[in-house]
Amino acid sequence: MGNPKAFLTIPRKEAGYRPVNDRIHDFGEVEQTLNTRDRQEQASRCMDCGVPFCHWACPLGNKDPEWNDALYRGEWETAYKLLSRTNPFPEFTGRICPALCEKACVLYLTTGEAVTNRENECAIAERAYQEGYVTTVHPERNGRRVAVIGSGPAGLAAAHRLNRLGYGVTVFEKNEAAGGLLRYGIPNFKLNKKVIDRRIRVMEEEGIEFVYGCAVSIDNGKLTIDNCPASNNSQLSILNSQFDAIVIASGTPVARDLKAPGRELKGVHLALELLSQQNRVLAGMEFPKEERVTAKDKDVLVIGGGDTGSDCIGTAHRQGCRSVTQIEIMPKPPVGHNPNTPWPNWPVILKTTSSHEEGCTRRWNINTLEFIGEKGRVTGVRVQPIDWKPNPEGGRPVMVEAGAPEVIKADLVLLAMGFLKPEHPQYPDNVFVCGDAANGASLVVRAIASGLDTAAKVDKYLKKQ
Ligand SMILES: Cc1cc2nc3c(=O)[nH]c(=O)nc-3n(C[C@H](O)[C@H](O)[C@H](O)COP(=O)(O)OP(=O)(O)OC[C@H]3O[C@@H](n4cnc5c(N)ncnc54)[C@H](O)[C@@H]3O)c2cc1C
Ligand code: SF4
Repeated sequence: MGNPKAFLTIPRKEAGYRPVNDRIHDFGEVEQTLNTRDRQEQASRCMDCGVPFCHWACPLGNKDPEWNDALYRGEWETAYKLLSRTNPFPEFTGRICPALCEKACVLYLTTGEAVTNRENECAIAERAYQEGYVTTVHPERNGRRVAVIGSGPAGLAAAHRLNRLGYGVTVFEKNEAAGGLLRYGIPNFKLNKKVIDRRIRVMEEEGIEFVYGCAVSIDNGKLTIDNCPASNNSQLSILNSQFDAIVIASGTPVARDLKAPGRELKGVHLALELLSQQNRVLAGMEFPKEERVTAKDKDVLVIGGGDTGSDCIGTAHRQGCRSVTQIEIMPKPPVGHNPNTPWPNWPVILKTTSSHEEGCTRRWNINTLEFIGEKGRVTGVRVQPIDWKPNPEGGRPVMVEAGAPEVIKADLVLLAMGFLKPEHPQYPDNVFVCGDAANGASLVVRAIASGLDTAAKVDKYLKKQ
């Protein structure tokens, strides 16, 4: 275990973000890193408590005390080996996991200063790449083949485990590159896309085959092509070959829309229209001016108070917006502590992200009535302050008016209200669904856990055939 008394003398130290006036001019990652001595010192604060609730809270069951101990002792390779036993992609979660483990850390309960598990995880992963501890594995092939539909974290995790179990794995991805929302949702300032490219190279070297620009679906238990550009015709022969099992990891493709009057006005967009286009622009893609969604010189209104909305705020700042306002229909969460979500549960409390710190007006209990505009373009949104009253019949609280309607001026409106949970038909026994496609919109760490779990189910099923 770390240093049993370190938590008494060493305070939690986060690497922190780059200064606002520096970071909002580029899309580089906002988070900084600690030097090696400070990082190891932070790991020493993990005191190997009797019942490590971090194991329980992490959907992957990461063994934080074990790798924190190795990190404290400077045994970086051992730390990576322990970490990668449960987490195939610590470089992703180390950057963008909300760190469920830290909110279940015993030090969070007792001092409010959890061990910096997420940052430690990222440091271990980065050192592993630098020092060459990330090695490729070439298992003996068992002659059976599995197709994975979708290359988001769930599909990648399923492909990784199935490949290591000896299956021949082909990943079909409708986009031009791998990563799902890691690449075309999460902004570069949270996750640099080279981090994804680096992992995909390892997976390719291990023998996983990726087919891009190819949307596929399932018909009678067989893969069928929905859309595959001519450039991929050479790949189509793959589809004719038989797969012993299919894993669907296609995410939640349909965003929740807001069917208020004026929705058709120009300048009203789903959040991902902004976010995915910006990530593509940074990858070198060009868009005609009339298709470009940009916040430059605009007053931006983000509807939806969650993480996607926050990513829109950070992106709008970097594109040069005039102002950003974020509204949310639900009440403002409690600050600091919420008795309804006691430790070790994830606390539902007010979250202020790096994007919020960059400047934003935030309002809660605001309902959207209509989009208003001139000459076909949005100029503002009519909203109304509301309140939530307990439902006398039980169930969901009732929304009541709590103020006069008003107009928030906006010439770019972004709808960040979540995604619809996909429905699936009854598939044959050899078809498995995982990640957000199975569970609805969630987190990267949950998608990875679901992908690994599904791979184990595929293996169990195929071993019986
Ligand atoms: C803007 C935004 C920011 C987020 N930020 C965070 C964060 O900071 N931390 C966090 O933990 N989570 C975050 N999330 C949530 C997280 O990204 C998702 O929960 C996670 O990516 C889900 O993984 P998945 O593999 O199930 O699906 P996805 O990542 O959605 O991947 C699905 C893939 O399947 C492909 N696909 C779909 N249909 C087909 C088809 N027919 N044929 C071939 N391919 C297909 C898609 O193109 C896509 O690449 C964020 C989500 C959004 C939208
Ligand atoms: S993946 Fe997330 S919850 Fe799990 S140990 Fe890492 S930071 Fe914590």
